[in-house]
Amino acid sequence: MIGRLRRTYRRLRLGTRLALGLGVLSLVVFGVVGTALTTYMRDYLSAQLDTQLAQGQIAQSKSIADYGTLTGKKYYSWFYAVYDVADGTPELRRPEDPADLPEDVDDFTALARAQSTAHTELLRTEHLRGNGEYRLRACEVEPGVVLVSAAPMDDIEDTVGQLIAIQAVTFGLALMTLVVAGRGMLRRGLKPLSDMAHTARGITSHDLTDSARLPVRHDKRSGGPEVEELRTAFNTMLEHIDDSLAVRAEAEQRLRRFVADASHELRTPLMSVRGYADLFQYAAANAPEERDKHLARLRAEAARMGFLLDDLLLLARLDAAEVETPLRLREADLVELVEQAADAFRVTHADHPLTLAPGPGSLKLVLDAQRIRQVLDNLLTNAAMHTPAGTQVSVAVSMVNGAAQARIADAGPGIPPADRARVFDRFYRVDKARSRDRGGSGLGLAVAQSLVRAHGGRIDLTSEPGATVFTVTIPLTGAAPWGHKPATQHV
Ligand code: ATP
Ligand code: MG
Repeated sequence: MIGRLRRTYRRLRLGTRLALGLGVLSLVVFGVVGTALTTYMRDYLSAQLDTQLAQGQIAQSKSIADYGTLTGKKYYSWFYAVYDVADGTPELRRPEDPADLPEDVDDFTALARAQSTAHTELLRTEHLRGNGEYRLRACEVEPGVVLVSAAPMDDIEDTVGQLIAIQAVTFGLALMTLVVAGRGMLRRGLKPLSDMAHTARGITSHDLTDSARLPVRHDKRSGGPEVEELRTAFNTMLEHIDDSLAVRAEAEQRLRRFVADASHELRTPLMSVRGYADLFQYAAANAPEERDKHLARLRAEAARMGFLLDDLLLLARLDAAEVETPLRLREADLVELVEQAADAFRVTHADHPLTLAPGPGSLKLVLDAQRIRQVLDNLLTNAAMHTPAGTQVSVAVSMVNGAAQARIADAGPGIPPADRARVFDRFYRVDKARSRDRGGSGLGLAVAQSLVRAHGGRIDLTSEPGATVFTVTIPLTGAAPWGHKPATQHV
C-alpha cells in the first residue's frame, strides 16, 4: 500500500508534489493552531463557570447561614446539596425543592466528605448518571455545614464543539484553496522548465544530419533568476552543440571535397598512363621507332602519380602527427639549405634569374632538413611555374624576433586577393586549367604549410602585381613538431 502510494507520488508532476507538500505542512499548522485555540477556549469557559459557581455559592452560603435554607440565585438545571458534616460523615439535608438534587448524589456526598477534611473549596468535574458532565464545587458555609453546587458543562462542550466545527470548515476550505491555488501558481512558476523540456524534445526530433545548426532556442523570459540562469545555461549548451556540429559538418565537407579532388587528380595521370600504354602497344606493332617516346611518357605520368601520392601520404601523416612523428629533427643550417635550394633552382629554372639576398652567414636550428628543403623547393618552383619566363626571383634569410625567416619573392603577376586565403588549401589552384598544364596538382603550398606548421612555424603570403612574397617563419626555440594541431581543417 505504502509502496503504491510512493509510486503514485513519484509519478506526480513537480507542481502537484510541491502543492501537496504545502498542504501537509498547512494541515500540521492548522492542527496545532486549532488545538491551541480549542484548549484555550475550553479552559476559558471552564474558568468562567468556576467563577459563576463560586459567586452563586457566596450568595447561597449567606442564605444558609442566615436562614438555614437555600434561597437566592438559582440557575436552571444546576444542582445544590447541603450537607451537615459535624460528626465527620456527611448528612444530606432534605432540600426544599426536590429539583435541587440529581438522582444520583454519590459524587456530591464524596465531594462533601473530601471538603470536610480539606477545609477549602474543592472543584471537580464528574459525570452524573442521567444528567451528563457536571462541574461540582464544594465550600464550607459555616462550621459543620458544606454546600455542594453543580453546574452543567454541556454548554461549554457545545460551544467548543461549534468552535471545532467552524475551525474544521474554515481550515478545510483554506487548505483546499491553498493546495488548488498553490498548485496552479507553482505550475505557472515551473512552466519555463516544461518549456525547456519541450525545447529539448524539439532538438531530439530535429534531424541533425540535415543541417548542422539547431533551429531551437529557449526564448521565453519568465520564472525568476533561477530559471533565467538555467535558460542561459541551456542556450549556451545549445550554442556549444551548434558550434561542435558546425565544425564537424565543415570537416566532413572538407574531407568529402578532398576525397573527390584526390580521386579526380589521380584519375588524370591514370588516364594518361592508359592512353600511353595503348599507344605503346600500337607502336610496338606498327611503329617501333615511336615506342621509346611513349614509354618515356608512360614513365613520366607514372612518376607524376607517384609524386601526387607522396604528397597525399605526407599530408595524411602530418595530419596524424599526434600519433606519428613524421619529421626527423636534427640541427641544420637554414642558410645552407636555402643556398642549396637556390643552386638547384638555378639549374632547373634557368629562365628565371634568382638573387640570394645577403644575410647571416649561418643560422642553425633544429629541423627536418629534407622537409624544409621540400618547402623551399615548392615555393621556388611556384615562383618559376606561375610567373612568365624572365621573372626575377629572390630569396632572403634573416632573424626576426627570435625566429628564422626565409623569404621567397618573385616579381610575377601575383595572386588575386580573393585567392590568397585559399592557395594553401589542398588541390586549390588559381587557374586550374593552366596550372594543370604545368603539371601542378595544387598540393604544393598545402604540403609546405603543413610541414612548416609541424615545425611550429608558419607561412605568410603577401602579393601584389610585381611582388609576391612567401615568408616562412620557424621559431629557433620551441619548435613543437608534434604540438601543432593536425591540420584537419585543411583537408
Ligand atoms: P603543385 O605545387 O602541387 O605541383 P601548384 O603549384 O599548382 O601544384 P600550389 O603550389 O599549391 O599548387 O599553388 C597553388 C596555386 O597558387 C597555384 O596553382 C598558383 O595558381 C598559385 N601560386 C602559387 N605560387 C604562386 C606565385 N609565386 N605566383 C603566382 N601564383 C602562385
Ligand atoms: Mg606548386
